[in-house]
Amino acid sequence: ELDVQLIVDWMKKTNEKMQENKPYLTTLDQPIGDGDHGINMARGFQEVENKVTKETYETPADVLKDIAMTLMSKVGGASGPLFGTAFLKLSTAVKGSETISYEAFVNGIEQAVAGVKQRGKAEAGEKTMVDVWYPVSEALTEEQDFSAEVLAETAKQAMENTKDMLATKGRAAYFKDKSQGHIDPGSASSFYLFEALSDVLK
Ligand code: ADP
Ligand code: MG
Ligand code: MG
Repeated sequence: ELDVQLIVDWMKKTNEKMQENKPYLTTLDQPIGDGDHGINMARGFQEVENKVTKETYETPADVLKDIAMTLMSKVGGASGPLFGTAFLKLSTAVKGSETISYEAFVNGIEQAVAGVKQRGKAEAGEKTMVDVWYPVSEALTEEQDFSAEVLAETAKQAMENTKDMLATKGRAAYFKDKSQGHIDPGSASSFYLFEALSDVLK
């Protein structure tokens, strides 16, 4: 079960990873983008941490909505509105309850994936963050019980699988064949997000 405190801890852990891996995320965005993904994520999740540790929230939906709004307004670039959409859909899916059950969370992640796909007009296999969010959603649906290990491993493998993909959406699509052989930056940041969730659930 996820409650408000666990979500706040998740965001602190995510921010820690984004700060630590800021240079790496930027390195990933250099050959197939504009080299700002580390900067975007580090700024965005620092703002998220500042916001959610300052406020008090009644329900998980309230904190998730604030995360969404912060990412949408503070992160320039494609990734901000996309991560923002994911959290907004997750928020809407769990509205009303004080704790999020495993089933409700899985449903929320499914809604989040649908939202990201719609907003980015991207399908799985196009070398975007969808290629981490979608496999994670599938793995969670298949699991009977929540396993923090499976969550982190699935996200990691999915991120690595983007390396061989050809980008057809976002900035990386401009690099055509040259986009192959590089991990997608947004898939790497999505991996850190799910790894952070796995860490706080262990
Ligand atoms: P920008 O490309 O505007 O500089 P970022 O560098 O912060 O933004 O984020 C780039 C990441 O955003 C990509 O690696 C990819 O994962 C994701 N992304 C970009 N466009 C799309 C899209 N249309 N659908 C889904 N994800 C996308
Ligand atoms: Mg970029
Ligand atoms: Mg940019």
